[in-house]
Amino acid sequence: NKQLENQVALVTGAGSGIGRAAALKLAQNGAKIALVDLHKDHVEEVKTQIEEMGSEGLVLEANVAHPEEVEACYQKTVKQWDRLDIVFANAGINGEVTPIEDLEPKDWELTISNNLTSTFLTVKYAIPYLKTNGGSIIITSSINGNRIFKNFGMSAYSTSKIGQMGFGKMAALELAQYHIRVNIICPGAIETNISENTWKEKEKLKKVEIPVVYPEGNQPLEHRAGKAEQVADLVLFLASSQSSHITGSEIFIDGAESLL
Ligand code: NAD
Repeated sequence: NKQLENQVALVTGAGSGIGRAAALKLAQNGAKIALVDLHKDHVEEVKTQIEEMGSEGLVLEANVAHPEEVEACYQKTVKQWDRLDIVFANAGINGEVTPIEDLEPKDWELTISNNLTSTFLTVKYAIPYLKTNGGSIIITSSINGNRIFKNFGMSAYSTSKIGQMGFGKMAALELAQYHIRVNIICPGAIETNISENTWKEKEKLKKVEIPVVYPEGNQPLEHRAGKAEQVADLVLFLASSQSSHITGSEIFIDGAESLL
């Protein structure tokens, strides 16, 4: 028997990178997956891959920074499968990589709402459904803003990521009464589309002579950025009953990048 047989997971940012890898990993282990992303065509591909594995997927095109869209995702998921067990609040953007002096307030707001408010909404609207049987919520934060402060121009991103950490811990405390666990994962540099975009942005910053740190070479364990599949293994562990006594924890997954 697969360990997540009969369970239902909702994954945000499931169209790419860490979310996609986690959706596939959870499905491989028997879960049915609600696939939430801004990009419908990307999650359609993931759904097809899930079906090829013999599980089921549900495509949900939504912006998780908008309350009514998040609420609708849960309604559709529960309508389809009549339960919810696992939530991976993972969608996020790097936002504008710009020094504070030049950062427009609207760009600050965009990063905070996409990364932090979205996490609040994804947790909030899951509670009515998870309350019934308990469950596991996993939030993707970052080492950035929690352990390291080396990325110039990413003040809004760092603020959103440390905000997710505080929110996740408060949620773990409040939701323990319902046997809902909440844990926060903090990846270092992981090879996904988000990091490619950032590295491009950093090329731009280089021209204005701001020191640049390229994370690929900065991971002592493997001398490369991590892979989304490696993060997916951690998500599976936190989603499953193997982590039944772990809640309110932050777990760093960075090949020791943050220790340098
Ligand atoms: P990615 O760009 O490959 O995937 C992110 C996905 O989220 C995309 O498919 C995007 O469409 C979706 N998304 C973004 N905003 C959304 C919104 N408002 N509503 C719905 N979907 C939305 O990036 P990734 O690297 O897989 O990032 C996933 C998470 O991991 C993010 O929270 C990111 O901050 C975090 N993270 C990434 C790294 C890294 O190096 N890649 C490191 C630390 C933390």
